[in-house]
Amino acid sequence: MTGVEPSRKHASIPGGANTSKPGLFGLLLLVAACQADSHPRPDQALVESVPELAESAKTERQKALLTGIDVYGTAEENAAGARVVLLFEGAPLFRQKQLPAEGILPPRVAIELEDTEWGETVPVSQSIGRGGLKRVRLATPNPRVVIDLEPGATGRVFYLTDPYRIVVDVSATDRRVIKRRPLVVLDPGHGGHEPGAANDEHGLVESGLALVLAELTAERLGEIMPRARVMLTRSTDVDLSLEERCALANAMEADVFISIHLNASPEPVRRGGVTTFVLDTTNNRQALRLAARENGTRVAEVTGIQSLLAKHHRKGQLEGSLNLAGKIQRHTLKGGRAVFPELADRGVRRAMFYVLVGARMPAVLLEASFLTYEPEARALSTRTYRRALAHGIASGIASYLHSR
Ligand SMILES: [Zn+2]
Repeated sequence: MTGVEPSRKHASIPGGANTSKPGLFGLLLLVAACQADSHPRPDQALVESVPELAESAKTERQKALLTGIDVYGTAEENAAGARVVLLFEGAPLFRQKQLPAEGILPPRVAIELEDTEWGETVPVSQSIGRGGLKRVRLATPNPRVVIDLEPGATGRVFYLTDPYRIVVDVSATDRRVIKRRPLVVLDPGHGGHEPGAANDEHGLVESGLALVLAELTAERLGEIMPRARVMLTRSTDVDLSLEERCALANAMEADVFISIHLNASPEPVRRGGVTTFVLDTTNNRQALRLAARENGTRVAEVTGIQSLLAKHHRKGQLEGSLNLAGKIQRHTLKGGRAVFPELADRGVRRAMFYVLVGARMPAVLLEASFLTYEPEARALSTRTYRRALAHGIASGIASYLHSR
């Protein structure tokens, strides 16, 4: 990856807003949330870093408006979890409470809102009954959103900006029970307004290909390691912020997190290849450029924020990530070479990827092939090569999980 113009590769939302670019405020809050070590129990209040705004900020602020409540992840009957997203216009002031079951009331998470109104189209009550989520409802007299959980389920709350959102991740089963079954979170890069890199000649788009690779990897993992559970951060072509991807993996207490991408270069490349990245606050120029492209930011912004984030990087996590990266790199190459023998090994490297920041488990970013290297683009157009890469990724994951 050389000489990148990030804005060309990463389409922004019309109007200039870019949902995948974390505002510093939101990112730091998220890092704080990601770093919280205490695991909530259903009967225990959860203390999180939520925006307790200063008094001065309170007096100046406009009333926030709750514009919608989205529920994700409950399409399947035996969903391992669910996600509730409260959408706001304006920054909401809120307090969260984790309440145990009492009388006829189930265990629940209450989001108490201050100075906030809700739009007329927001449903007063949504019954779900899947993924540990029983119901989402609005309650008065204090404006609040109550998330009723199923017995044994737990909820974790975090806050995101740009746009303002309060996210509640619900885990269906008591973590102590399911902990024996490893959880793999696969993150297909980009999506929605951010297609990532592309090869127009071959009609290849990174966001679509990454999703296909993730789906094939999940399918393969189910065959070779049936006891592993697999979750995808997205299953359709939707926008998903970089913070949410890592936060989902943390909320679900995943064992590994793999963000899947395809590499590209605006200049002709003489060889393509596979690269696996682990998070590092590197100053390597090429790595910074690639990070800028994948983050949807400029190089200057990456360098500006990296030292700040460095201290949040968990000690000991690098070792696990390097171990995972080595196995993914080796097996992806092996898988890909079964169909495309010349596939080059670009090795395990380090770079500053936002999507990996705050991850509490071994986490890597895989650039599975080059979209702009003609022989690889041709191979990527075939189902056979895609499947071969996915088989490689899956066996890398399985190899890591077996080795722990
Ligand atoms: Zn990418």
